[in-house]
Amino acid sequence: MQSYQEMSREELLKEKTALEAAYRKYAKSGLKLDMSRGKPSAEQLDLSMEMMNVLNSNTDLSCEDGTDCRNYGVLDGIQEAKVLLGDMIECHPDNIIIYGNSSLNIMYDTVSRSMTHGVMGNTPWCKLDKVKFLCPVPGYDRHFSITEYFGIEMINVPMLSTGPDMDIVEDLVSKDEAIKAIWCVPKYSNPQGITYSDETVRRFARLKPAARDFRIYWDNAYGVHHLYDIDQDNLVEILAECKRAGNPDMVYKFCSTSKISFPGSGVAAIAASANNLVEIRKQLQIATIGHDKVNQLRHVRFFKDIYGMTEHMRKHADILRPKFEMIIETFERELEGKGAGTWIAPKGGYFIAFEALEGCAKSIVAKAKKAGVTMTPAGAPYPYGKDPTDSTIRIAPTYPTLDDLKIATDIFVICVKLVTIEKVLE
Ligand code: PLP
Repeated sequence: MQSYQEMSREELLKEKTALEAAYRKYAKSGLKLDMSRGKPSAEQLDLSMEMMNVLNSNTDLSCEDGTDCRNYGVLDGIQEAKVLLGDMIECHPDNIIIYGNSSLNIMYDTVSRSMTHGVMGNTPWCKLDKVKFLCPVPGYDRHFSITEYFGIEMINVPMLSTGPDMDIVEDLVSKDEAIKAIWCVPKYSNPQGITYSDETVRRFARLKPAARDFRIYWDNAYGVHHLYDIDQDNLVEILAECKRAGNPDMVYKFCSTSKISFPGSGVAAIAASANNLVEIRKQLQIATIGHDKVNQLRHVRFFKDIYGMTEHMRKHADILRPKFEMIIETFERELEGKGAGTWIAPKGGYFIAFEALEGCAKSIVAKAKKAGVTMTPAGAPYPYGKDPTDSTIRIAPTYPTLDDLKIATDIFVICVKLVTIEKVLE
């Protein structure tokens, strides 16, 4: 196949005319499609409806140690929920504190506490002239919103196919005491679907930061969100690796069941070293008498154990796989070899990232919008919403039906081609 760059002006103009006709047809049909929302479809949420039946007014709401879940108490979360979430993120239950429903909320709280009270006896960040976070890009916009909200300077670090560029990470953290943390989505990353390689994780665990209170914010949001039974990515467990490397306190690991059970009504947790947990509990006991134990119990009784959860995730995968595969197949059929952009076929997670030609992302998203397809705003996966090369577009295949997604993908591809041709013709 000839790329647009190799085509003559006449060939490009001819192709453009045909694409414009197809585009106009779609634009006239008044479609309203959405490829921007990284949330489960109703069909996926239906998978967990049985959870509504595992507890009722006749249910004994005592947990295994006899605690009455209806009452106050148990700051850390009930033991059986710690075991379930511990298995989910491959950590010992003793290293876990269960919170409410949202892991993002725990991350916010962790940054907030570090600002006001510091990390393990170090100066509170609010008293420092400068606090900086490393931000692998493209990344999760809501991470960047938290750091922006607190006035923390964000430094972009490019993502490679193996995870963040560790040469840059090692260099920056070893030199600059103002760098206090790095945001990471280490498995099936948002938005590229990249899983950090073994070497990347080992290099993380062996960082030698200038800041004594440097922490890795390890957001394991998609740890069990595989699309395939056999062909799965594996991630080295960071807490154990940090311990092995003599840096046991350097990582906070976050997780939730948001995209396993119900976003908004799941169970979220932090895993960290004993020292970190002592500090976290000090704050937590002021903030709450305990989180929602009934919901924790409901989750445990529904999933039973990690095997139940794995089985449940297979059902999610059965719904998601055709959506991801349709998009990748469409890209391969329509865009491969055209010089119009690149993509990675993820083996899990919630997103596909399309890398358009430099300077094209905003125009593609705007064009798609005019034809009735909403995409995540271009720039969103970067700190301050600024994509320095205006090239990344996040695609969220999970929420629409497969039929809607097919039309939305066709329109997206037409927009990519049109904007690319316009760029080449410039
Ligand atoms: N972390 C990542 C990487 C996400 O993509 C999302 C949601 O899209 C979240 C966290 C939000 O998690 P929670 O619902 O537990 O707050």
